[in-house]
Amino acid sequence: MADGGLVTPAERGGRASWPTAGKRRRLTTYWRERCSGRVVTAGWPGVYADRGPGSDSRMMLPRRDPGMPHNKAVLSLETNPPQTFGADTLDRVVLLEAPIDGVLSAYLDVEPSETQREGFEAALLDLWKPLREATKDPDVAGRLEEEIDRINAYVRSWDEPPGRAVAIFSSAPRDVFVPIALDVPVLAGARFGPRPHVLPLIAALDEHERYCVALVDRERARLLTVWMGRVEQRIEFEEPLPGRVTRGGGWSAGAARGAGRDSSRMGPGRIHSSQGGYARHIDYHVDLHVQRVVAELWRLSRRQAISRIIIGGPPEAMSALRSALPRSLAERVAGEFAGELFASDAEILGRVGIIEEQAERAHEAALVKEILERVPKAEPAVLGWDDTLTALCDGRVHELVLVEGETVAGYACPEGHFAVIERIDTCPFCNEPVWQFDDLAAWALRRAFATDATVEFVRGEAAAALRPHGAGATLRY
Ligand SMILES: [Zn+2]
Repeated sequence: MADGGLVTPAERGGRASWPTAGKRRRLTTYWRERCSGRVVTAGWPGVYADRGPGSDSRMMLPRRDPGMPHNKAVLSLETNPPQTFGADTLDRVVLLEAPIDGVLSAYLDVEPSETQREGFEAALLDLWKPLREATKDPDVAGRLEEEIDRINAYVRSWDEPPGRAVAIFSSAPRDVFVPIALDVPVLAGARFGPRPHVLPLIAALDEHERYCVALVDRERARLLTVWMGRVEQRIEFEEPLPGRVTRGGGWSAGAARGAGRDSSRMGPGRIHSSQGGYARHIDYHVDLHVQRVVAELWRLSRRQAISRIIIGGPPEAMSALRSALPRSLAERVAGEFAGELFASDAEILGRVGIIEEQAERAHEAALVKEILERVPKAEPAVLGWDDTLTALCDGRVHELVLVEGETVAGYACPEGHFAVIERIDTCPFCNEPVWQFDDLAAWALRRAFATDATVEFVRGEAAAALRPHGAGATLRY
């Protein structure tokens, strides 16, 4: 081994076994010491040491009998199908705790079009190398190898990766193996610690809001909700316009189907008794149709959080829809597709991806700009780690703004009262000695959740503007 300090279970002549009581005590101490600055991380800066408020009271999973061997069941896509990612899945992962046994969290980028099987093997080795190098304690190293074996076996069982990226949380002593398939790329990395590392999942959630795409013409409507690169739900309906007699003698339903242009008014040979009356009649039906589209959109947005709406279709139908939207929905329109009622799902997802990226970057840039403008005017906002952490401690943060993938080291109360960059000895609230934390972004995130603040991870232009300050927030007061 490169660092000389690590003995893998294989080198010790066997698999990792359940630690004895003495070992368990040492492991508990180990996690505690880890919180004073030892690094076991790959891919991201900082140590896994975010023991936040209430961490000791949430033992959510039943302990297995320590005498029992760990789950030796074969891990494969059949035995452990990947879960699709949603707020529920995230909730369950967040509640997972293994203060003694540890949880291995791994994020693999497995874009199917770019990664060959050999690519997975190389990617796995890249994930584990820094973790192994940083793990000096032989007992912890044994546990780590046990978890690495499980994830390796799982990934090797794939014929096809289950998504563009996969997050896996594994803790054999607790019978936990949670693979989550993601249709969006994530920052690859791995951590071994008493809690799952969920920051990349939350960053992915933040990056991908739920969209509703409403494609309409005069008779048809297609509504699709899109989230995390996937079509979640679709509603399609058709309300044919009333027929009319044409020169050919047949009845035809409404305007030229799908032509996206109203040809009926100019159409030759119409024998409708009153041209104006017929047009009004059609307008009436189109109006009813548009109202139904609005009602469906409103219903969808009531049922789930629709952050943004994209409308599409022939210009006439699109403008009818635009003017019929109530303000609460109109505010969320983030883009338009001209004349593409019959676009395929793949085309729609591609378009949403582009609009989403632009909308998210624009939103982030505006948010950081607002904070930068508010602070000198003493309006409710803060800039810089110190002021942001203080505001978080006070519960005043409305929206916490962090640069994606960046963090800072500092000190925090083990009870979660307080965090600072500059060394202090004891927490001013409870007088407990403070612990050193290498990842205050994770601390801040937990604190934000605990105080109902929202969190925004920024990239690009907004990240460049925020980076000199490290972090910022808008405040409630
Ligand atoms: Zn305290």
